[in-house]
Amino acid sequence: MDGGNVNVIDHLLPGKGVHPEYRKEATSGRSIERFPLPGVVHLPVAQNLGAPSKLKVKRGEEVLTGQVIAEAGGYVSAPIHATVSGKVSKITQDVHFASGKPVDVVLIDSDGRDQWVELKKASLKDLSTDDILKRIWDGGLVGMGGATFPTHVKLKPPADKPIDTLIVNGAECEPWITSDHRMMLEYGREIVSGIEVMRKLVPATVIFAIEGNKPDAIEKMSELASSSRAGKHVEVVAVPTRYPMGGEKTLVQHLLDREVPIGGLPLDVGVVVQNVSTVKAIHDAVIEGRPLVERAVTVAGMVERPGNFMVRFGTPARALIDHCGGPAIGANEVIFGGPMMGISQCSFDSPVIKGTNCILVKRNTKRPERGCIRCARCISHCPMDLMPTMYVQFAKAKRWESCGEYFIDDCIECGSCSYSCPASIPIVQYIKLAKAELRKVRSK
Ligand code: SF4
Ligand code: SF4
Repeated sequence: MDGGNVNVIDHLLPGKGVHPEYRKEATSGRSIERFPLPGVVHLPVAQNLGAPSKLKVKRGEEVLTGQVIAEAGGYVSAPIHATVSGKVSKITQDVHFASGKPVDVVLIDSDGRDQWVELKKASLKDLSTDDILKRIWDGGLVGMGGATFPTHVKLKPPADKPIDTLIVNGAECEPWITSDHRMMLEYGREIVSGIEVMRKLVPATVIFAIEGNKPDAIEKMSELASSSRAGKHVEVVAVPTRYPMGGEKTLVQHLLDREVPIGGLPLDVGVVVQNVSTVKAIHDAVIEGRPLVERAVTVAGMVERPGNFMVRFGTPARALIDHCGGPAIGANEVIFGGPMMGISQCSFDSPVIKGTNCILVKRNTKRPERGCIRCARCISHCPMDLMPTMYVQFAKAKRWESCGEYFIDDCIECGSCSYSCPASIPIVQYIKLAKAELRKVRSK
């Protein structure tokens, strides 16, 4: 697509990444439906990268929707809010998705009334940068593309790291997922308002990146952005439909030809990247005074009626799957996220949390691992120019430090190597294991 303020950039990374079947047709045309309030929500008090939040409520306590139930556990952390009004019926423990350590889970029985705390609206012109950052932090915002890094931290870069580019990430390159696509079509005004808020914190040029397979979203966002106050600073760019185009480092390299240093962040090369749903949440928190209690989720795969839903956090996956006609015969796995980077859940009852953009129901068809045939496909498809096959060899030999010497920290865990391996070697699993073991070695 070309025209207006839309540019197509299709260079760099030749041959890198993969072209999985996108399978988005089943839900890309389905509007986001508001999912009914669940009877009980299950809220883990750690839903972000960084420090877990600290529990603030007791069993038996009455809470309102939007009330803080756990405070941020440090600067790189975010509060958690009640997502229904009702009574705290139980506090139990579960495994934290990121650290693997046990965390408290708050169960709230809904009273069905959805009574909210008072929401304090604001006008952007009346807010200082400190006010904006506080509203973002208080709102519990984290990266909603799946990374869950606290948003206030990203939007307050250190003084020695000047930012010249904000990338709004609407690429949504993972197969099956269409929740961000629908957000752009249905909440475009709020997303543009969120961009205006971000530019007050980081007055940089904005590149709004959307994969070329979403022409309706490109058209919509171009139209809304060009008629907004931030319009002249925003360029909507159609990026090639190629996995993992939506990875932060891939986008930075592709759009700006800048390489994020090993172990570094986009801010090291003057860039902040925010996912579109996060940008909408920035509008909600800063302008509407509304904390993060829900998100758009795609339910796809082996269900009768797939769709997109606005879901309160803490809603069990099973409730959504049943609403969509239940798992089809033979389905035995639920993944939160897409098939490339998503996390397989140990139960159909796992609750939707801040980073859950998709519930994918599927049949686990894992094939037995065979020996490496040294075809180098994993190397030629790695978007980060790494040597994935070496990590498998090092991991099998427990040579964790060798993985570090071969730049394993630069791996974005995109899964392109596993996807392209003809020997069905679960390369990413070896990489995750090696990273965890390397962290232990380094902390000694
Ligand atoms: S080594 Fe990492 S970055 Fe490279 S393809 Fe594999 S998962 Fe992706
Ligand atoms: S793609 Fe698989 S078989 Fe080929 S070199 Fe990499 S690990 Fe070995």
